[in-house]
Amino acid sequence: MTVNTKIIAYEFDYLEPGSIEEALGMLREHGAEARILAGGTDLLLQIKQEKLLPGYLVDISKIKELSHIKEDGGLRIGAAARLADVREYCSRHPEYIALYEAISVLGKPQVWNMGTVGGNLCNASPAADTAPPILIYGGRVRLVSEKGEREISVEKFFKGVNETVLKRGEILAEIVLEPLRDNSGSAFKKTARVGADISKLSCAVSAERDGQKCSLCRIALGSVAPVPMRARGAEDVIKGSEVNEDMLRRAGQKVAEEVRPIDDMRSTAEYRREVSAVLFRDVFSTAWERSGGEISWER
Ligand SMILES: Cc1cc2nc3c(=O)[nH]c(=O)nc-3n(C[C@H](O)[C@H](O)[C@H](O)COP(=O)(O)OP(=O)(O)OC[C@H]3O[C@@H](n4cnc5c(N)ncnc54)[C@H](O)[C@@H]3O)c2cc1C
Repeated sequence: MTVNTKIIAYEFDYLEPGSIEEALGMLREHGAEARILAGGTDLLLQIKQEKLLPGYLVDISKIKELSHIKEDGGLRIGAAARLADVREYCSRHPEYIALYEAISVLGKPQVWNMGTVGGNLCNASPAADTAPPILIYGGRVRLVSEKGEREISVEKFFKGVNETVLKRGEILAEIVLEPLRDNSGSAFKKTARVGADISKLSCAVSAERDGQKCSLCRIALGSVAPVPMRARGAEDVIKGSEVNEDMLRRAGQKVAEEVRPIDDMRSTAEYRREVSAVLFRDVFSTAWERSGGEISWER
């Protein structure tokens, strides 16, 4: 059984590098014993529960070159940028509204003031709330190590439950999002036991409008597979089609076929599959309305 002692009942060394270079050196020096600390809202819980007992915590939260949130060929979010600041930025930039909506239901302000988007992705929970919006914004991550750097899509970053492609000694430095084009809209929603709880399932959609047709659509879901996933089959149903109730019903059915949910303490696979079609239609409708489109529902 998992214990939560509420206190950290063992000793570790706390390291506070001032630059990426220094952090990478510390990770090399302490190897498997070291763990990166950003906001600590996932990591410290795992330490309290004794699921992890690292000898060294390398705190990247004060590294200035990782704290940016800026537009430069897309939205660039540094790994040390707080969820609260990212949320505030997205509240002023409607092209990233789905990320704003996701952070708004990710815990409460105490969590936003500590946690980071990078930590949410690196923890690699299937329920990570920032993952679906990042997937629909074509998100990429820049990973740095002493050997150099690489940039990969967020879809390829996740390997399994709590597993990513990050190698030992590698830091996620930055997340890069593509802005939506004109005539586009996006949205995010989740269902949970109570507000701001971990999701039973979540969905984000971006839709680009060409008259009454949807020319481009991205659909991403959380808590319905080992990793946050795109529903590409449903995207194919939508792309180039006229948006109406019948098309959305078919796309929703496709979403329900594509998800791979399980039973766990938060929900059942059956509930998740059924609700994925409904939640998708709801989120798509909001994104479509934000793009300036209309849907007439038969009653
Ligand atoms: C009360 C509470 C409520 C919560 N509610 C939600 C919720 O509703 N939805 C949700 O998705 N999450 C929720 N969380 C989980 C957590 O807050 C988020 O996942 C948060 O974004 C983690 O960010 P962090 O900076 O605190 O990560 P940390 O805890 O610092 O790190 C998490 C993991 O990622 C690694 N890591 C962090 N940054 C990097 C990096 N730059 N490079 C490489 N590895 C890195 C760490 O080593 C660690 O393994 C909740 C947590 C709490 C305590």
